[in-house]
Amino acid sequence: MYNYLKGENQLKRVVVFLIIISNILLLFGCGAGTSGYSTEFFSMDTVITVSAYGKKADEALSAAEKESNRLNDLLSVNGPESEINRLNADGSAVLSEESINIINTAVDLYYMTDGAFDITIYPIVDLWGFYTGEHYVPKDSELSELLKNTGCEKLVIEGSVVSFELPDMAIDLGGIAKGYASDKVAETVRSCGVKSAIMSFGGNVYAVGGRPDGSRWRVAIQDPADNSAYAGILELYDQVAITSGGYQRFFEQDGVRYHHIIDPDTGRPADNGVTSVTIVCDSGILADGLSTALFVMGYDKAVEFWREHSDMFDAVIINDRSEIFVTEGIKDIFSSDSAFEVISR
Ligand code: ADP
Ligand code: MG
Repeated sequence: MYNYLKGENQLKRVVVFLIIISNILLLFGCGAGTSGYSTEFFSMDTVITVSAYGKKADEALSAAEKESNRLNDLLSVNGPESEINRLNADGSAVLSEESINIINTAVDLYYMTDGAFDITIYPIVDLWGFYTGEHYVPKDSELSELLKNTGCEKLVIEGSVVSFELPDMAIDLGGIAKGYASDKVAETVRSCGVKSAIMSFGGNVYAVGGRPDGSRWRVAIQDPADNSAYAGILELYDQVAITSGGYQRFFEQDGVRYHHIIDPDTGRPADNGVTSVTIVCDSGILADGLSTALFVMGYDKAVEFWREHSDMFDAVIINDRSEIFVTEGIKDIFSSDSAFEVISR
């Protein structure tokens, strides 16, 4: 699931990442101050940076890297150690409590989002070539065949055993893995006694507490139409901001752009005018799953969904006309050079 960054997209993502990080550095002065430490490493198929402050900051950074690598080995569909890999290969497997918990959360998200978030989409994402980098535009008949094998109701979870109801099924935790990892790494950093830290998982940001001076962390949301610009700034305190965008991983064929977030109803990249969804809440796994799901839902359904769950999360939605919409709960911590509309409850 993490191993399909190839060529141009990879380069683009690294550039975007550097821009976001340089924004973070510019805006927030990471590394400044006497007791701040930063580290950067590659894990979970993305560049991860962690900056931590306080007496135990140095120790927290090593623990953070170790924890990321542990989760990479557990959740990647490529690693020989990966439980998910074993399940996909055998169609049934005894999994660790941790993997079962993540899968159960994914299944909850499936029902909650009316199927917009669906980890059984793996064979379809695979056919499009997003894992191998061998991109391919499937025929309708191929997609309708594969769609028969998707849907979380076809996953059987009994205690620690997960099995597939149909042959040829497979799951992919790529839509929530980085969010889950951010929760776990934040927990690790906190357990070292750190009260102020900021971490980025390929541009998805987890803020532990505030800046060392107690003020909020300022985090840029990338402009989906221009990867050298940002659409707005969020001010976070003990919150996570996770973005799903069609501009992140894609390929082009015959002038058409195909991205990696698939609408489980059609088996094709979601195509509804929404170009970026950022979720803000206090849970990385929830933010990650919902950013993917709301991107698939499109604007109207996403707003309706938010109104039903506005106690759980907030969102910034951007569309292909570069219009920016911000839900009421975060209107005071969002700012932009462009005009934006507040979505009320
Ligand atoms: P990224 O991981 O690139 O930051 P997302 O969190 O939106 O972006 O996750 C997209 C990944 O999730 C895809 O690469 C694929 O592995 C998987 N995926 C694609 N469509 C869906 C979907 N509708 N539901 C669940 N997972 C999906
Ligand atoms: Mg996601």
